[in-house]
Amino acid sequence: MSPAGKDWFNETLYPDVAQRFTVDRVIFRERTAHQDLVIFENKVLGRILALDGVIQTAEGDEFIYHEMLTHVPILAHGRAKRVLIVGGGDGGMAREAMKHPGVERVTMVEIDRGVVDLCATHIPSIGAAAFKNPKLDLVIADGAAFVKRCQDRFDVIIIDSTDPHGPGAVLFTREFYHDCKNCLTPGGILVTQNGVPFLQPDELRNTAERLTTLFADTAFYVGAVPSYYGGFMAFGWGCDSAAPRRTGVEEIAKRFAASGIDTRYYTPALHVGSFALPRFIEKLMAG
Ligand code: SAM
Repeated sequence: MSPAGKDWFNETLYPDVAQRFTVDRVIFRERTAHQDLVIFENKVLGRILALDGVIQTAEGDEFIYHEMLTHVPILAHGRAKRVLIVGGGDGGMAREAMKHPGVERVTMVEIDRGVVDLCATHIPSIGAAAFKNPKLDLVIADGAAFVKRCQDRFDVIIIDSTDPHGPGAVLFTREFYHDCKNCLTPGGILVTQNGVPFLQPDELRNTAERLTTLFADTAFYVGAVPSYYGGFMAFGWGCDSAAPRRTGVEEIAKRFAASGIDTRYYTPALHVGSFALPRFIEKLMAG
């Protein structure tokens, strides 16, 4: 039973199951140019950003998601200098990517200026410092339009988008992945936020089908993010070679040690192990 007199944020991502969080304080709420945005405080997870009723990031566990979507592809690549982030308005992905001494430039293409400004102001612990980092080029635009016309090339492209609804829907299409592939350097790696397969099986099945037609090496890896309800979160992977994904744990550990980065979730063993998938996810990949 819910503690009497508490306000709750009820996530509306799924019709038949849901998670909820007590709202100890609403920090900010508005309809931006693209989506409904609320930032609220919860005793367990700290400050939380929700967009269109869906949890996006929480101070308490954001490190898991941001470490896994940056350190895995960047350390697997081994020589990444230029990184593109599509989405990522809270700044956490840019923060982690820019920790790598070898990464010279991070371009972040976020459609909603409101998310950037409000997260920098109201959840500064996640990404405020990133927005001041001289390595960062922040572009306010639709990521799909950006990669379609982009002449630059990137060693790692990270799709840190909302779910495939509203402005995020276009970031799950084959055309978008095709345009991302055109923006990769040889041996470049595309990784995607790909939902929670136990509750969003079609999201993984569709991405698997689309990436397989574009990349010689398509895979998924997983991480457990408490505020993304429903078990493992999946991350999509596309590359024109299987070599980066197959880099051994000793080499990954050497690169990780050389980076000097301190993490709270990522380890070289977890990096390699995260590509070992539960059977039901392997079956989803097979279509
Ligand atoms: N960790 C979250 C998740 O797994 O769902 C993602 C967080 S991040 C805040 C998602 C960002 O994607 C939002 O800031 C949203 O504005 C942005 N976004 C959605 N559609 C976009 C598009 N077409 N181009 C660029 N950014 C987009």
